[in-house]
Amino acid sequence: MDAFDESRVFDVARVRADFPILSRCFGKLPLVYFDNGASVQKPMVVVEALSRYYREAHANIHRGVHRLSEEATAAFEEARRRVGRFINARETRECIFTRGTTESINLVAASWGAENLRAGDEILLTEMEHHANIVPWQQVAARTGASVRVVPVAPSGELQAGVWRELLSSRTRLVAVAHASNVLGTINPVREIVEAAHAVGALVLVDAAQSVAHFPVDVQELGADFLVFSSHKVFGPTGIGVLFGRAELLNAMPPYQCGGDMVLEVDFEGTTFREIPERFEAGTPNIADAIAFGEALDYVAALHPGARAHEAFLLDEATRRLGAIPGLRIIGTAGQKVPVISFLLGDIHPLDVGTMLDADGIAVRTGHHCAMPLMKALGVRGTVRASFAFYNTVEEISRLVVSLERIRKMFGQ
Ligand code: PMP
Repeated sequence: MDAFDESRVFDVARVRADFPILSRCFGKLPLVYFDNGASVQKPMVVVEALSRYYREAHANIHRGVHRLSEEATAAFEEARRRVGRFINARETRECIFTRGTTESINLVAASWGAENLRAGDEILLTEMEHHANIVPWQQVAARTGASVRVVPVAPSGELQAGVWRELLSSRTRLVAVAHASNVLGTINPVREIVEAAHAVGALVLVDAAQSVAHFPVDVQELGADFLVFSSHKVFGPTGIGVLFGRAELLNAMPPYQCGGDMVLEVDFEGTTFREIPERFEAGTPNIADAIAFGEALDYVAALHPGARAHEAFLLDEATRRLGAIPGLRIIGTAGQKVPVISFLLGDIHPLDVGTMLDADGIAVRTGHHCAMPLMKALGVRGTVRASFAFYNTVEEISRLVVSLERIRKMFGQ
């Protein structure tokens, strides 16, 4: 496919017009935003939903008898329905609003973990997990006497079936795995992992933070017991995200936080709790952002599958052109990837590369990407990461290539 094919599969210019921030310039340099793995930009439908809510419809929800409160409640619950549709949850109530991926994982670790884990039990993680999918498990393991076991990552950036299957046993109570790696881009074989985990009686939590923006994710098809993601990585606002959990699991879990809205009956002698979703949504929730998040999900879902084809094209193009730069080493060469490229440029420190790219108007991420154990396993101190969204273009990739060539020569590499 050449550059001109791009417009045939996906009208990137039209999509870019939905994102005003993409036309920003730094001096004379138009912004090239390649830090989408950290957070993506927001389309106008999301910005407008936030503004409209505060202009026209704000009130506290669930408890009000007045019309404004009823309207806000309806919009909030409609957002939950949109989340349920987006991931094909069997029931809307299986979708709990949280602050994001991190809080969702902490909720499951603290609530399900503390209730169900015992000494001798094992939690199986992979070497490519984000800190958010490591540390909460370490903490609950320390409190319960369970232990954490880790599936190593092969040099290609993939999990080897022979290896992860070996580590599953009747001691495994839970597998927590990234659907896609924020460093390597690897898409993990979650459906196979779920099948094998269920066969030994273990549950699976899928960290979908890096997958939902790139392809449709179906919790029923995956067989996930829990699945978590953040709104801000899927074109919605910050400060909101989702915990999906199978209804029978969530309803059997003790509350994570307690307060208003999640109780049935409060008495100084004792308190009874509501069922899901309210059981896990203590206090006034993030109403406006939930509503705008719902808009974002509908926006993304409508762009599939053209967006996916365009992103695959960007990934191929960038892999080929970056790979042709002398001394540039791509880290993560899995067969199935989301559009994320981690790399090193000769011996140049990733921070220097990132700073110099920024001087050219190109935003990338550098460092350990909240995956220190993976850095250690790969034997690197950090990487430069260019991560793409469907609003990126081949012209932007050309600018990255030109900049990297300039940096390489400046450092005499
Ligand atoms: N898991 C993965 C794979 C991620 O990429 C991230 C964000 N970089 C997180 C978890 C944490 O997400 P958040 O900061 O939105 O809670």
